[in-house]
Amino acid sequence: MIQGSTELVAIVGSPIAQVKSPENFNRWFASHQQNVAMLAIDLAPSALQNFVQTLRGWQNLRGCVVTVPYKQLLANRLDSVSERSAALRSVNVIRREADGRLVGDIVDGEGFLNAARKHGFNPQGKQALVIGTGGVGSAIAYSLCEGGVSHLVISDLNHERVEVLSELLCSVFPEIVISANPTSLAHFDLVVNASPVGMNATADDGQMPLPLPLMETLSATALVADVVTSPAVTPFLACAQRLGCGIQTGPEMALAQLGNLGHFMGVTPLEI
Ligand code: NAD
Repeated sequence: MIQGSTELVAIVGSPIAQVKSPENFNRWFASHQQNVAMLAIDLAPSALQNFVQTLRGWQNLRGCVVTVPYKQLLANRLDSVSERSAALRSVNVIRREADGRLVGDIVDGEGFLNAARKHGFNPQGKQALVIGTGGVGSAIAYSLCEGGVSHLVISDLNHERVEVLSELLCSVFPEIVISANPTSLAHFDLVVNASPVGMNATADDGQMPLPLPLMETLSATALVADVVTSPAVTPFLACAQRLGCGIQTGPEMALAQLGNLGHFMGVTPLEI
């Protein structure tokens, strides 16, 4: 029950009906007797600048999760952002400080790594491949570098995106080998699909971000992960499973990220 004394957090995007954060957060707030609630806001692009001003003055609001299409648009309208948000020019969470200042971060990559750690994956010294260098793929690639991978390979149908991300990562993490477009997967400890390929796929339509002959070079010791949330087991993950690899699903990443988002807004612990 939302009361006058209830503190609020929000999630903003457009469209918004598909997001799962409100039910996940509100279930957690209720089961932990927290007088906090999350609202979903479907914001028209024309209202964005006024929305930022409203956030600054909204005194019972602790923070706001940000989703498509506002991750990039909000990054340069806040009072300060983390180093990785500044580098990636993107935010997916905002904290409202008591004085109204708005502080942003992007924790997609941290959420991904939290889930991977639960599978026993520690990025330090490892070799990883990230397919898809959009908003989520860039954030995962950045967090893998922060976590100390020794070699990161990125690939995308959009070659310009690969070039831009390679340049950024090489400048921030000069000690890490960054390359593109692998010809074999044999040496990877982690392979991640961070592209939308496989979204809404059925078991037999077989949409894959990598060709089968390349998939067959995977080592069975590799962890293979997907960011796509529906279906949970994409054709890519099903193929990796058949090859004997451990798998990590998109819903696992989304769930693991809740703690990062809630902790940044000051309404949950990091591990929930
Ligand atoms: P985006 O549009 O910013 O980036 C997608 C990238 O994938 C683009 O650069 C595109 O060129 C590339 N791509 C498309 N097809 C490809 C292919 N066959 N091979 C290589 N690259 C290809 O999208 P985004 O915001 O990064 O989202 C990506 C996916 O992540 C979406 O499916 C989204 O639903 C999902 N997502 C999951 C979570 C989670 O917690 N699991 C969180 C946010 C987003």
